[in-house]
Amino acid sequence: MGNKSVTQSVSQGGGVFIGLSTFENAKKHLETNHPQLTEKIEQCKDHIFDILSRQRFRSQPINHATRQLLVNFSQTNPEKNIVYSANNSQLSIIMENFPHLKIFENSSNLSRETTGVKSSPSADSVVNQAYEITDITRIFYQSVHSINLNQLLGGSREVPLLSMVHFGGKGGMRAGYDNAFWSPNDAVMVYGDGCFFNPLVSEPTVGTHEISHMVTQQIAGTLIDGHNGQATGIDYTGDAGGINEANSDQAAVAALQMSKHANDPSDDKLFRIGQGLFRDDNTEFALRDMGNPGNGYKGAKYLGNDPQEGYGDYTFWNEKSNGVDPHLASAVGNKWYRRAALYLKDFGPTWETVEKVRIAALPLCHSNITYPEYAAITEQVAKRLHPETDQFWQRINDAWKDVKVLT
Ligand SMILES: [Zn+2]
Repeated sequence: MGNKSVTQSVSQGGGVFIGLSTFENAKKHLETNHPQLTEKIEQCKDHIFDILSRQRFRSQPINHATRQLLVNFSQTNPEKNIVYSANNSQLSIIMENFPHLKIFENSSNLSRETTGVKSSPSADSVVNQAYEITDITRIFYQSVHSINLNQLLGGSREVPLLSMVHFGGKGGMRAGYDNAFWSPNDAVMVYGDGCFFNPLVSEPTVGTHEISHMVTQQIAGTLIDGHNGQATGIDYTGDAGGINEANSDQAAVAALQMSKHANDPSDDKLFRIGQGLFRDDNTEFALRDMGNPGNGYKGAKYLGNDPQEGYGDYTFWNEKSNGVDPHLASAVGNKWYRRAALYLKDFGPTWETVEKVRIAALPLCHSNITYPEYAAITEQVAKRLHPETDQFWQRINDAWKDVKVLT
C-alpha cells in the first residue's frame, strides 16, 4: 500500500491511541539503528491500517443496532464492567468476531473474566488492569461530570462497558499489537499487549483516552443537531480530528489527576500521556507531552523522537491540516488545555476548571469544527460556568493566544 492510502484511511478512522506519524518516525529510526527489526515495524503499521480500513466510520456515534445488542446483552449480564481475553488468537480472527457482541459468549477465541479485581481478581494482571482503568474512568465521569458511562452507551438503560485485552496475541519484542482503540461498531474497548510498548493497559491514560472517544461521539453535536437531539460526533480529519483527539488526552490527564488527588496544575508531569509505556526504555518517556509538544520522548530505543515537535503552534500546520495525523493536530488543543489549567489554578484543580469547560463545549461542537470556532465555544461556556468574573473566560482565551488560535 502507498503512503497516500494509509493517510486517507487514518483520516476516516478514529481513536487509535498511537498515531501513524509515531510509527512512520519509528520506522525511520529502526532502519538506521535496528535494521533487524524493520519487518516488525511494518507489521505494526499494518495493524493500524487493518483496523482503520475495516472501521471507516468509527468516529461516528454507535448505531441503533449496536445499542440494541448491548441492551439485550445487559439483560443477562448486569455487571458494569466486563473484560474479555483474546488469548493467543491472530488479529484477523478476532476482527471477524467483532461485529456481533453475542459471539463473544460462544467464541473459542475469547475467554470471559466476569468480575476482574473488585470481587475476584483474575490470575492475569492485564485483565485486572483493564478492569481497573475502566472503573477509574467510570468514576471520573460520574463524579466530575455526572455522566453515567453505562447509561451514555445504553441510552435509556445501563449496559456493561466491555474491554478486550491481549488483542492480536500475547506481547513481547517478537509479537503483540502496539496500540489500543475504542470500536464503536462493537462498543468495545480493545488493548494490545505491545511489542515496542508494554501492554497498553499498564498506564491508565490509555484507557481513559479511548473510552473518552465514546463520550465525544455520544455527546458532541447534540445541541446543534436540534431536530432529533442525536449526537453527530466530531470528525477525525483536519482541525476537527485534532480537537477530537485532544478531548481524549484532556480527559485522560484530568481523570489521572483526580484519581491521584493531584491538585496542583503547575506540575508538568501531570500532563503527560502514556508515561512509562516504552518497553525496555527510559521510564520517564511519555507518548505525548501536552504542555510541551515534541518533548514526550527523544532518542527512544525503538521509536526515535516524539513527532509532535512544532505542532503546538496553530499557524505552523493549519494550511496543511487536512493531511495531518490527528495525533499531531491534537497538540494545539492539548497545549491550550495545559496552559488553561495553569492559568486557572486559583479556581481549582484541572478537573474543576478547564475540564468542566471541555465537557460543556462538546454538545456545541459540529462535526467538522475548526480550532477558531472551538475557541469561541470555550469562551461562551466559560462565561456561562463563571458569570461572576471575567477572569475565568479571559484566562481561557489567554491560553488560546499561546497556541496562536487567537491573536
Ligand atoms: Zn485517540
